Amino acid sequence: MKKFSPEDLEKLSMDKELEAYSHPLRAVIIYLLFGLVWIGFSDRVLLLFAGNMEQYHMMQSIKGWLFIVVSSLILYLVLKSEYKKIFKLTGEVSSKNQELVSFAEELVAMEEELKTKLEALYKTTDLLTSQKQFVEEIFESSNTAIMTWNLHGEVVNVNHYYTELLGYTLEEIKGKKWTEFLIPEGERPKLKTLIDELRENHRVNNFENKVVSKDGTELSMLWNDTLVYDSVEDRFFVVSFGTDLTKQHLQEEQILKMAYMDRMTGLKNRMVFENEISSLISEGHPFTLYYLDIDQFKNLNDIHGHLYGDLFLKMFGEALQKEAPYEHIYRWGGDEFLVVEFGIPDETVIKTLHDIVQRNWALREVQFTPTASIGITRFPEDGTVVQKLLMNADLALHKAKINGKGSVEYFRKQFQVELERVATIEKALGKALEEDQLELYFQPIYNLMTGEVGSVEVLLRWFDEQLNITTGEFIAIAEQTGQIVKVDQWVIKNAFKVISEKFGAAPPCRFSINLSAQSFNSDILLHSLTQLRETYDIRPEDIEFEITEYSVLHNLEETRRTMRALKEKGYNISLDDFGTRYSSLNYLGKLPFDRLKIDKSYVDYILTDSVDRVIVDLLVHMSEKIGLKTVAEGIESEAQYRALKEMGCRYGQGFYLAKPMPLEAVLSLLSKRD
Ligand code: C2E
Ligand code: MG
Ligand code: MG
Repeated sequence: MKKFSPEDLEKLSMDKELEAYSHPLRAVIIYLLFGLVWIGFSDRVLLLFAGNMEQYHMMQSIKGWLFIVVSSLILYLVLKSEYKKIFKLTGEVSSKNQELVSFAEELVAMEEELKTKLEALYKTTDLLTSQKQFVEEIFESSNTAIMTWNLHGEVVNVNHYYTELLGYTLEEIKGKKWTEFLIPEGERPKLKTLIDELRENHRVNNFENKVVSKDGTELSMLWNDTLVYDSVEDRFFVVSFGTDLTKQHLQEEQILKMAYMDRMTGLKNRMVFENEISSLISEGHPFTLYYLDIDQFKNLNDIHGHLYGDLFLKMFGEALQKEAPYEHIYRWGGDEFLVVEFGIPDETVIKTLHDIVQRNWALREVQFTPTASIGITRFPEDGTVVQKLLMNADLALHKAKINGKGSVEYFRKQFQVELERVATIEKALGKALEEDQLELYFQPIYNLMTGEVGSVEVLLRWFDEQLNITTGEFIAIAEQTGQIVKVDQWVIKNAFKVISEKFGAAPPCRFSINLSAQSFNSDILLHSLTQLRETYDIRPEDIEFEITEYSVLHNLEETRRTMRALKEKGYNISLDDFGTRYSSLNYLGKLPFDRLKIDKSYVDYILTDSVDRVIVDLLVHMSEKIGLKTVAEGIESEAQYRALKEMGCRYGQGFYLAKPMPLEAVLSLLSKRD
């Protein structure tokens, strides 16, 4: 439909108005002209044609009628034509009107639509405004650091929380490159990676970095960054939401520190040891590992209580930190400490450690003078993994402990094999003791002057086909494991039982029973002897105990007391294996021994080595002079026997004379004597 402008419509109505006025005027003018012509000429024409007046009058009437008819006809035709035009015009007007009405309706509808759209627009604007306010409020009041920045790293905006955190005002930061301005130098390279990743993925989550606040404090931040396109400005910018993890990190650090620090001593703990050693190993850096254990620590705890034990550990830990100039010192647990060193000679480290331990520790009113045993292993010679090195150090320490207080031992490969055998034997020996699988053998000791059996030494035997073990080996192991006290108790009981069963109250000779140092020094010895003696009705004078110098070494005063107690009860005591490990003539006069047993290692050489011969000769003479009878051990030949006899050695024992034998054999030997 054609659309009219208001001007068009006005012009159109004016034209129509003019046209409407011109039509009646035209009809009247035609009528006027026709009337005038008619009046002017009709009478003259009549006069021409009328013959008389009557005719004239009649023609006059006809002319009047004719005028009326013709003018009526003309009027009719003019009016008809005008009406026709009016009708046409009216039709046109009505159709224009129609058009106008629908145009008006259209206008109304358009206005309606416009109104609705306007309302919607207002609503959207309101919504946008409130949303903007909301976003601004969140931005400013949020407890999260929010920062917008462009891909050059320049800050566009920072929220209140973040400016507070940093101590800068917005103006101080805005437009600056935060990637340089706020970031410590070491962290900067990783920001380049951040920007690259943002360009590629438009989002980076959980990005952690450090920022430096205005007062120089380093803060740890965790960011979630999103790359956003700004269509208004046609450029990208980054929105970063950050959480301040500084406090959390500090707490974590503290927890971590606590997890890695030994609370009692303040030294590094075993976890750190394992980590640090692993890195040293992976670096391939040779080192020596020292495993230190306080020797008398158990006594301190047992006698004075754990409080004193803890106090010592604390003081010792402090002393180690202060006085041992080593970076790698750890507390492994209990009274065990580890030191890792390279570069400093072993002897220096050992001396330093011993010097720190071996002093008089004043633990309140308690005085403590400990020693320390040290096991040593080396990387890479002895092992290349932490566990192996630890095991080595432990084995070496174990060996050092066996060697005695304050000992130092280096790891050797056979320790492992030895230790496994010790463990097997320890277990089997416990079982053998319980199930009476041990046996007693007897070796006669002869009076070299008369050739008679003077006494019989009781020797333990363990016939185990699988273990195939000698007495010397399992006795040594029982001494290590502490089982020796039980072993000796078993021997004393079974020896007493045999004597009682076979000889009653009057055995034909003395019986010598070996006592280990631990048994001799144990509290139960005297008590158990009293009980067993009563049970089996044994006369103490028929019994001789053989102890070694090692038993005596422990404490001379205590040894003297125990010996006196034994002697008072009537038992005999001999000093066994004289001339071996701790030989010293010192004890001979000071302690009430009855006999001195010269060790086989001297007897072996009396024929070939003149020095040994002289020593044995002197020993025999000296002993006899102070009232000690001598027994030579391990006589294996007639020549040895004669030589000893010539020297005046009163008693002798050895394979040449008689080998250790089972009960029946010794019984028959003794019965022949009778
Ligand atoms: P010991 O007390 O010096 O006993 C003497 C050892 O020398 C015995 O070894 C004996 O068999 C051996 N022997 C004797 N004459 C000769 C000889 O002519 N040649 C050689 N080669 N050896 C000879 P055995 O029975 O193997 O005992 C070894 C050690 O084990 C004993 O040395 C003793 O210290 C210890 N022992 C044995 N039985 C017991 C026991 O019941 N308790 C304790 N605590 N130790 C024991
Ligand atoms: Mg002996
Ligand atoms: Mg001996």
